[in-house]
Amino acid sequence: MSVAENLNKIKSTLPAGVRLVAVSKTKPESDIMEAYNAGHRIFGENHAQEMKQKHADLPADIEWNFIGHLQTNKIKYIVDYVKLIHSIDSASLLQAVNKEAAKHGVVVDCLLQFFIATEETKFGMSLDEARQLLESDEFKAMQNIRICGVMGIGSLTDDKDQTNREFAHLKQIFDTLKADYFAANDEFKEISMGMSGDYQLAIAHGSTMVRVGSSIFGQRYYANK
Ligand SMILES: *Cc1c(COP(=O)(O)O)cnc(C)c1O
Repeated sequence: MSVAENLNKIKSTLPAGVRLVAVSKTKPESDIMEAYNAGHRIFGENHAQEMKQKHADLPADIEWNFIGHLQTNKIKYIVDYVKLIHSIDSASLLQAVNKEAAKHGVVVDCLLQFFIATEETKFGMSLDEARQLLESDEFKAMQNIRICGVMGIGSLTDDKDQTNREFAHLKQIFDTLKADYFAANDEFKEISMGMSGDYQLAIAHGSTMVRVGSSIFGQRYYANK
């Protein structure tokens, strides 16, 4: 099936209120344009320089979502156009994004990434780390970021019970943070969870943004990513 067919098939299954981030990392701009011409605007990338190049080359109304581990020295490649950074995995990264955003005179929407998987290769905070961050004076002074919710990556496993537990855990983290820190804040509303293999389960657990790559664009050919 074509990119457009894959995209429309997935979109037709999403309940209202769940948005699709088409993960186009490593894929050519022609693939993105095929999805764009089918009406899609939200794309996800995980390398800052690759996203910068695609942003420069492609239509300006694309909403670029950054979903990968972000090094502080790469923030400058994305800060002035990124729609949402899903992957804030430490207090120091959030501080660095805030600083770079201030330099550019922008406010950047961010999600806090939580470690919910069993694999140590994955990034993310714990609930305690997030509490420390959200209660800190440094956080309260940050004028150029906005926390819009949470993100997590489930384990790469066929064990549905485990995936269910991990997604339930992230939903619980969201509910806890919402109640304790963002009860009066309408912007804190996103739960970014679910990929090609598990997005239906993620939706059942309350996901508001699914990040789907290979089911739209086909397999990616590279090692160790
Ligand atoms: C690559 C990636 C995805 C998409 O993965 P697929 O299995 O191809 O759908 C989603 N989220 C993150 C953080 C990714 O790095």
